[in-house]
Amino acid sequence: MDKINNIISLLQEEFPGLEPKPSKADPLDILIATMLSQNTTDKTSFLAFQNLKNNIGTWEDVLKAPISKIRNAVRVCGLTNQKSAAIKNLLKELKNKHGKLSLNYLNKMSDEEIYNDPLQYKGIGVKTISCVLAFSLGRDVFPVDTHVHRVTNRLGIVNAVTPVKTFEQVKDKIPEGKKFLFHTLLIRFGRKICRAQKPLCGRCRLYDDCEFPEKEKCSMLSSAEPVDNNFIILEHV
Ligand code: SF4
Repeated sequence: MDKINNIISLLQEEFPGLEPKPSKADPLDILIATMLSQNTTDKTSFLAFQNLKNNIGTWEDVLKAPISKIRNAVRVCGLTNQKSAAIKNLLKELKNKHGKLSLNYLNKMSDEEIYNDPLQYKGIGVKTISCVLAFSLGRDVFPVDTHVHRVTNRLGIVNAVTPVKTFEQVKDKIPEGKKFLFHTLLIRFGRKICRAQKPLCGRCRLYDDCEFPEKEKCSMLSSAEPVDNNFIILEHV
């Protein structure tokens, strides 16, 4: 836990003033936006989300729409067939189970209950549930996406082959009250400095804490300036 606290402090020096931004958006909006964001950029998934809202309408309208119309709306963010089918399926199951297209009932449930039960629809995993908890319900949880998975492994906080395993290994190690903050800092850090390709090890504040075997080699190559890519879809839904 000391290591994580130290890393949080260093990342706060790197990104002064960066705070988690729970959007307070509708949980179903956040759920569908997260589904769309898989394997694509936040900008294209935001476009797909807007297409669904602007071209089709409410989630009731999306439920009634032919699958071809949903496919057309989400095509811009890839995995068209998979994502359109998963959204249709989610809306259908939600309507069948609860009689309406709303996830507001989650507000009354604990984090544990939410992880263990109601969102176990096809195509929805632990990362998506974590995003709903953090970005819509204001809970202190730690969503693990590809950036968080990569960086926590390079730092030696976990040793896991998948984001789901990373989540399981790390969730109880982060100090209470700092989980969503740590997630937010790692996302920025993973996008700007500890990038998948050519991480900027030469200008990394976490160099001494890092266990990435190639950090020395990368530090000699990393002359590029960091590029800011600050748009995060779930902060804009
Ligand atoms: S030293 Fe390199 S690999 Fe390690 S955390 Fe920093 S940027 Fe990432």
